[in-house]
Amino acid sequence: MNKKNFTKLLFESPSVFNGEEKELQRSDFDFERKLGDGAFGQVWRIKHKATNKLYALKQVPKQNVAKMIPQFKRELLIMYELNHPHIIKLYNHFEDEKNFFLIMELAEGGNLYHRLYRERNFLEKVAAQYFREVLLAVEYLHMHVPAIIHRDIKPENILLDKDGRIKLTDFGWSNYYSTDTNAPRFTTCGTLEYLPPEMVQETGHSTAADIWCLGVLLYEMLTGTTPFRTPAKDQMLNNIVNAKVKFPLNFPPLAKELVTKMLEKNPADRITATETKNDRWLTEIPPIRETMVQEPVLKSLKSIMGPEVVTEGYKVINEEPPNENKEPIFSSEDNATITTAATESEAKEEAKEEEKEEPKYNTTPFKQNIKKLQKKISLKVEETIKTKASIRESLQGIATFNQKVKELEEKITEKRKELATLFSAEKEMLLKLSDINFELERIQSSNETAILLEKITNMQKDLMEKTAEVKVYKKNLENIRTDVKQKTMDINERDKNLSSLQLYLKKIKDEILQSKYNKRSELSELEINAEILKSQLEQKDRYYSDPSNGSYFSSKEMMDYVQKRLDELKCYKRDQLKKKIDEAHEFQLDKEQELAEMKIEYEDKKAEIIQNNRKIREEAIRKIKKRNEDSLSKRKNFKEEIRNKLIQKLNEFRNAESQYYIDPIEIDKHKKRLRRRTKRLERLYSEMSQIRTEREMMKEVLSLKKREVEDLEMEIGTAKIKLLGKQFF
Ligand code: ADP
Ligand code: MG
Repeated sequence: MNKKNFTKLLFESPSVFNGEEKELQRSDFDFERKLGDGAFGQVWRIKHKATNKLYALKQVPKQNVAKMIPQFKRELLIMYELNHPHIIKLYNHFEDEKNFFLIMELAEGGNLYHRLYRERNFLEKVAAQYFREVLLAVEYLHMHVPAIIHRDIKPENILLDKDGRIKLTDFGWSNYYSTDTNAPRFTTCGTLEYLPPEMVQETGHSTAADIWCLGVLLYEMLTGTTPFRTPAKDQMLNNIVNAKVKFPLNFPPLAKELVTKMLEKNPADRITATETKNDRWLTEIPPIRETMVQEPVLKSLKSIMGPEVVTEGYKVINEEPPNENKEPIFSSEDNATITTAATESEAKEEAKEEEKEEPKYNTTPFKQNIKKLQKKISLKVEETIKTKASIRESLQGIATFNQKVKELEEKITEKRKELATLFSAEKEMLLKLSDINFELERIQSSNETAILLEKITNMQKDLMEKTAEVKVYKKNLENIRTDVKQKTMDINERDKNLSSLQLYLKKIKDEILQSKYNKRSELSELEINAEILKSQLEQKDRYYSDPSNGSYFSSKEMMDYVQKRLDELKCYKRDQLKKKIDEAHEFQLDKEQELAEMKIEYEDKKAEIIQNNRKIREEAIRKIKKRNEDSLSKRKNFKEEIRNKLIQKLNEFRNAESQYYIDPIEIDKHKKRLRRRTKRLERLYSEMSQIRTEREMMKEVLSLKKREVEDLEMEIGTAKIKLLGKQFF
């Protein structure tokens, strides 16, 4: 597996960072079954192959959280920092090219949502137990320095372990408390039923937001439904902000009081986690099992540096852990010193006076005894004085020690402050980054919608234009069609005319032919008649040529005359006929000419129409082409514009990012410096504790000496009394 082929987006897990183990990978685990789906990924029950241990693994595709990496990192940082019996622990994490993997403590009992769904609602004491356990987890978060707000408390994020104990999880929306008004945008995903009014109105929120969610949770556990639920989202949000909570009649009265205090609309007036813990309802319902508590962690810095935080165990007790009363370094010791000094001077005075009042009679053994006693006393007094001096010395030593301790402590607090400022600066930076991301996301998304809307309106405009154009084209086409129709009709008409003309011509031709034929037959008839006449004439001629007739001459003349007439007639008839035939022929030619001309004209017209049609079509095509080109270039320009805008936004985003960019080397340096400082601090701590033990020892010696002095004083006192008594008697 070439796992180095991508740039890592997350920091190393604490155990890898500290060199305790090498980085894990997917193949180190068996994926057994899916436990649930979240907003951004899936959760699986897995077995670590090497140790056979079971864990829960949250697999989050990188693309799902690409825009919120700082927030995702924060989820991990916060989870690594936490160590509470009622909060799911994060043990490790790793990433591959496509996913982030979180190795967490396994909660085998499913989540509260499913349990509530199965049982509808819980018995009061069961609800109280669950509520108590969640509340402890939340109180722990709120007491953390700096305070952590979970921001997504709801039954789906409350898990149950194999014994049915509560385990809070899903720190995806959690954050360190700051006064930002930047609420996560829950409105885009998940349920809104748990949203506090200050988040609905985006007026800034604090740890009180979690208390609201706990109020909704308690209500739901006791009734099986949430207090502001309606099918309409807007109505529900309105209810959250404005509506008074309505309780069913059988709602336990003390619980009702508590829920009312938790669902206070004004976060400033809302009850706190600790106050809730001490509420009557909770204290009056006995716990079903012992309660586990964990003191809040204050060493947030160390947890970033290393995993020491998870090494502490937790206690099992039924009450609050005793607040570890750190002993003040400067006790009332100084006063004690003064008091001792006073008694010391008094003792000296007394001793002197006793010396002064020394009796002169020392002869009797009794008196000698007294003398001895007096000597003893003075010895003791001297001793006392010496002891007192040594005590004073010791006290001085203690004072210097104290001074040193004071200095060291001052140094430590200074360093602590420094660390805290560094830490908060880092946190702030992370917060700012995530806020910027939120903001950018918002801007981007709003811009995108604006761009989309603009695009849509432009496209609509375009579409409208195109439709209008198409209408115009259609009309043109219609016109052209009717034109063509008209022309076709014209052509048909002409065709008809032409054919009738042709018919007419044919008729004429036929007529001419007929008349030709008639004339010809007439002519032949005439010729026959002429032949007959001729033969008759010949007969007559023969008759007249007969000399017996005597009229030969005249018949010959007549014959000539008839011949002549016949020729004339023949000639005339032929001429006339020819003329007529010529006329008919001419007429036919004329008509043919006319027809040919008409044909030509018709062809011309046809060609012209076709030409026109072609021109119109070409014009239309050209126009459509031009339109298309125009719209294409328009679209191209539009795309270009959008691209430029996007690039601009991207550049802005990059600028913003670079403004808040922290060089990883810097961070490393920073971390190293922090680690060094922490080490130095630890050294200082140990030195201090050494000094403390020394001081304790000195104190003990001092008190011993004091007691000795007291004993001596007592002895002196009794001796004095004895002395006085003896003097008296
Ligand atoms: P998201 O942050 O995506 O909402 P969650 O952390 O809420 O993801 O997990 C989604 C679901 O997966 C939970 O509602 C729960 O049913 C299941 N789940 C999450 N963590 C665990 C776990 N440690 N053990 C068992 N089940 C879990
Ligand atoms: Mg969840």
